[in-house]
Amino acid sequence: MDSRLDAIKEAVLARSPGELEFHQAVDEVFQSLAPVHRRHPEFLDAAVLERLCEPERQIIFRVPWVDDAGRIQINRGFRVEFNSALGPFKGGLRFHPSVNLGIVKFLGFEQIFKNSLTGMPLGGGKGGSDFDPRDRSDGEVMRFCQSFMTELYRHIGEYTDVPAGDIGVGGREIGYLFGQYKRITNRYESGVLTGKGISWGGSLVRPEATGYGTVIFTEQMLKTQGKSIEGQRVVVSGSGNVAINAIEKAQALGALVVACSDSEGYVVDEAGIDVALLRQIKEVERGRLKEYEAQRARVSYVQGGSVWDVDATVALPCATQNELDGDAAARLVRNGLLAVGEGANMPSTRRAVTVFQEAGILFGPGKAANAGGVATSALEMQQNASRDSWSFAHTEQRLATIMVDIHDRCAATAESYGDPGNYVLGANICGFVKVADAMLAQGVI
Ligand code: GLU
Repeated sequence: MDSRLDAIKEAVLARSPGELEFHQAVDEVFQSLAPVHRRHPEFLDAAVLERLCEPERQIIFRVPWVDDAGRIQINRGFRVEFNSALGPFKGGLRFHPSVNLGIVKFLGFEQIFKNSLTGMPLGGGKGGSDFDPRDRSDGEVMRFCQSFMTELYRHIGEYTDVPAGDIGVGGREIGYLFGQYKRITNRYESGVLTGKGISWGGSLVRPEATGYGTVIFTEQMLKTQGKSIEGQRVVVSGSGNVAINAIEKAQALGALVVACSDSEGYVVDEAGIDVALLRQIKEVERGRLKEYEAQRARVSYVQGGSVWDVDATVALPCATQNELDGDAAARLVRNGLLAVGEGANMPSTRRAVTVFQEAGILFGPGKAANAGGVATSALEMQQNASRDSWSFAHTEQRLATIMVDIHDRCAATAESYGDPGNYVLGANICGFVKVADAMLAQGVI
C-alpha cells in the first residue's frame, strides 16, 4: 500500500516542481492515508488521490493599479479552485509579498480537508496576491482590491466559489472587494464573500472565530488528559486577527498569555498581554508591536529573535507557515510544554510536528484547530441565505459546538485507526474520507 501511495505522491510532486509548501502539505496528508486505503481500496481504483491533488481550476491574473504617486503597479492574482465535492469552493484570500502559486496551492489543499472537517457543505479553494498592503494608504488598498475583483468576479459566486479573508485581507479589503463585485455584476449577492461588515451581511463572531475556535479546540485536547487551559502559561505567535482573538479567548478561560509577536519582534508581558492595547495598536492604528512596550510598564520587547524562546505550557502558533521549527519545538518540549494548537495554517515544520508527537505533546493541526474561521463563514452563508442575522451568543454557541465536534471526530477517527491521541492522523483521515466518498458518488469529474 505504502509503495502505491508513494508512487502517486511522487507523480503529484513531479507535476508541480518547486512548489515547496504544496509538497509539504501533500506529503503530510499522504503519511496519514495508508490505513484508509487498506480499508477502502475502492478509493485507489477510482484515482481519488490523483484527482484530489490536481486543482479543478487554477486562475492566475494580472492586477494593475495606480499608486498614490500616480505610478502604475503590477501584482499577480491567484485563485485556486481545488475541490468542489462537498460544496462551492471556499477559502480565503491572502495578500502578502510571499504569495506564489505553491503557497496558494498548499493553502487550498489544506482547506479541502479543513472544510470537510467542519461538517458544513463547503468545497476547498484559496487565492490571493503578492500585493503588500503594509504602508499602503486606504486609497491604494481600495484601488488594488477593485482591480483584483475586476478579474476575479467572473470566477466566483454564491454557488460557485466564495472567498473570504486570510493574512492581509480583513474587513476593509472584503468591503472594497464586495463593493466592486456588486458594481460589476449589478447584484447584491451577499453569499459571494464572507467576512463582511456586520451592517451589510456579515456575521457576528466571524472576526473572532478562528482565534476563539483554536482555543476551544486546545481546551478540548487538554480535557482528554484531565487538564484545562485555565492557569496555563500561553505563548502566542503573531498579533493579527487570529492571534489577538486567541489571546482574548485564552484569557477569558483563565490562561495567562505572556507573549506574542509580529514580523519584527516579540513582547513578553508577564502580567498578561493587554488585549485592548494590542487591538488599539494593531487593528485601529495598524502599527507595529514595538509600540506596545512604550505604552505599558514592565514589558520587554525583543527585536528579531523567536517568540518560541519564551517558556510556555501551551503554544498557539498563529502567525504563518513554517514559523515553528524542530529546534524551537525541542526547546519548548524540554521546558514543560503540554499542548500546541495551530491557529495558523501549517505553522509547524514537519520536524517540529515529529518532535511534538514523539514527546507525547497534545498537537492540534491547523486544519482541525483553526477550522472555526471557515465554519463561521459557513454560518455567515446560512444567515445570508435565510436573510437573517443571529445574536453573538447564539453564533458563538454554534461555533463552540462545531469545534467540540471537530475535536471529537478527529479523536474518534485516530482511535478507530489504532493511534489514539494522534490528531494529525484523525484530522487527515476524517477530512479525507468524506470528500473521497462524495467524489466516488459524483463519478469521474
Ligand atoms: N482563511 C481562513 C482559513 O484559513 C478562512 C477561510 C474562509 O472563511 O473562507 O481557513
